[in-house]
Amino acid sequence: MDRRAFLRAIGSAALLPVLPRRPWAITNFRRRRPSDAAWPSQSAWKRLDDAVGGNLIPVNFPLSILKTDPTGAAAKQFSENLRNPYLIGDQPGLTQTLGWVDAWATKPSVYAVAARDAHDISEAVNFARENDLRLVVKGGGHSYQGTSNAPDSLLIWTRHMNDITMHTAFVPQGCEHTLPPQPAVTLGAGTIGMQAYDAATTKGGKYVQGGGCTTVGLAGLIQGGGFGSFSKHYGLAAGSLLEAEVVTADGQIRVANACANPDLFWALKGGGGGTFGVVSKMTLRLHDLPEFFGVANFTVKAASDDAYRRLIREFVSFYQEHLFNDQWGEQAHVNPDNTLVIQMNSHGLSAEQAKKVWQSFLDWVARSPHEYSLEGRVVIGSIPARHWWDVQWWKEHWPEIAFPNPNANPLTALFDYGLVHLIRQPVFDFDKRPGAGPNNAWWKGDGGQVGWFIWGYESMWLPSSLLENNAQEHLADALFTSSRYSGVGLHFNKGLAGAPPDAIARASDTATNPALLSAFALAIVADSEGPAYPGIPGHEPSVASGREARERVDRCMSGLRALVPNPGAYVSESNYFEKGFQNSYWGSNYTRLAEIKRKYDPDGLFFVHNGVGSEQWSADGFTKL
Ligand SMILES: Cc1cc2nc3c(=O)[nH]c(=O)nc-3n(C[C@H](O)[C@H](O)[C@H](O)COP(=O)(O)OP(=O)(O)OC[C@H]3O[C@@H](n4cnc5c(N)ncnc54)[C@H](O)[C@@H]3O)c2cc1C
Repeated sequence: MDRRAFLRAIGSAALLPVLPRRPWAITNFRRRRPSDAAWPSQSAWKRLDDAVGGNLIPVNFPLSILKTDPTGAAAKQFSENLRNPYLIGDQPGLTQTLGWVDAWATKPSVYAVAARDAHDISEAVNFARENDLRLVVKGGGHSYQGTSNAPDSLLIWTRHMNDITMHTAFVPQGCEHTLPPQPAVTLGAGTIGMQAYDAATTKGGKYVQGGGCTTVGLAGLIQGGGFGSFSKHYGLAAGSLLEAEVVTADGQIRVANACANPDLFWALKGGGGGTFGVVSKMTLRLHDLPEFFGVANFTVKAASDDAYRRLIREFVSFYQEHLFNDQWGEQAHVNPDNTLVIQMNSHGLSAEQAKKVWQSFLDWVARSPHEYSLEGRVVIGSIPARHWWDVQWWKEHWPEIAFPNPNANPLTALFDYGLVHLIRQPVFDFDKRPGAGPNNAWWKGDGGQVGWFIWGYESMWLPSSLLENNAQEHLADALFTSSRYSGVGLHFNKGLAGAPPDAIARASDTATNPALLSAFALAIVADSEGPAYPGIPGHEPSVASGREARERVDRCMSGLRALVPNPGAYVSESNYFEKGFQNSYWGSNYTRLAEIKRKYDPDGLFFVHNGVGSEQWSADGFTKL
């Protein structure tokens, strides 16, 4: 065999399935439901329960209490807590989003394996494969698209797998001669943002790239790509993955990193959750903290449409000149009521430095008092970065957040803390259930999404070419036109143009759509209500309003889509009805992802809506097409 033929042969061998396909499973295959005679017997379930140390649990549907006994004390207590993401996360039968009009509504699995380790996961995977069951995986439960719930399924629930180990000099297995040791943290698959930040930042004095929302699961986040408030500096969460332990469809516990199973490793970095296997733990690179993290929060209202158009143009130009760098992330909102809402975070700037950055924009606004007004206070400040997620520190420096005063105007008072300013407004909400952990907190800004029912949701990466001088006016006009239908959120931390070269290099070596590398922002347009759920009297989703809203969201996005040929969307924050999802989510990476899927999961045990390989299955993931 000549060298070329040999290389071709090993190249294709590398993509051969790791487990043989079962011939009968190729076409017309249907997974079993509890109503099928071939559903596993009680003794089979008992064997699984024994194999996972008694951690097989029947899954309840907590919302049913609102139907069966809506006026009882239990229903009242549950309703009062339904906006608590920790309560939802503790229920194997619930998800943070309750559903999406005309798309899905959350449903419990029949049984869940409350996994403790990779061994439990492997038992559950083998049981599902051998019994032709629909398998679903849930970590933090934050999927907007409902990919962590399915009726008539077996759930692998990782909630309690949240061991955390810090390393000063981690080397991925097998990479001893190729990669230098580096600070890292190993997280169990069920770890949520707040747990990781507490260990890595508050206690460890380092930075780990998780999500902006403190209750998002790290395993789901990383497999979708993953952005946090400071991603413009540190990059994509998946870019910081050094190693994963993962159970594949054959039940094998594998290590995936740059040296072992590198194809699987690459696919786990942004190829989508619940698709290539079940991650049991992951090790993430730790980064250095700057001295300060900060905020810039204020709202400018324009007196007329014309003035608003000019305000957007001014902001686009100001952004390009002063904010288009790794120091500024998070959001600006362009709204139908002619307000521009700034909710941005800074990295590495003191309060004085941050104020200086914004001064020329605020001066521009102040020069036209008949056209522009500031609604509420301008809040620009910084705090020591190490305390950003330090709940105890916030409580000590600012007792009102522990005991919020309902009559306080949240934006009125600032006070000095040394050189920096703290914002005297309640930023966290707390889990007030008896016995709740002291760090069970979430940013108030994320509270609206707990238990919501989505009407419409779309996203799109905006290339930095739109910030060039000759394009700024087109961008600003498109934003104005779009905002006539719905509010547009520009998430600057979710596009990596302007990020440091090393952050871009790490993100380039992931499966995420390469569009993110040259995007200055991810535009997100969404509408919802909540909490709501079909069949619960008084809390039925408003289907007609939802459809109208979806139409508005779509029209709003169309204006922006016209600016960008072949736009990309962020898999974790996008439209359930995304057309051509393969291209939108993964662009040129899709072909390679599909090959890796065929290699590690040739029979499609792992199915999620609009996931890699999902084209071969019915919408519910039960029937092979
Ligand atoms: C309120 C809210 C705020 C958000 N904020 C951000 C943000 O700031 N930045 C951002 O990038 N995204 C954000 N997202 C999107 C979020 O990152 C994704 O939805 C992510 O997939 C959630 O992971 P999870 O574990 O919490 O959710 P889950 O619903 O449990 O899981 C999501 C997907 O990953 C799969 N999965 C979970 N665990 C595993 C595992 N161990 N192995 C294999 N597959 C697994 C599930 O099967 C499912 O398909 C937000 C979502 C919500 C609802």
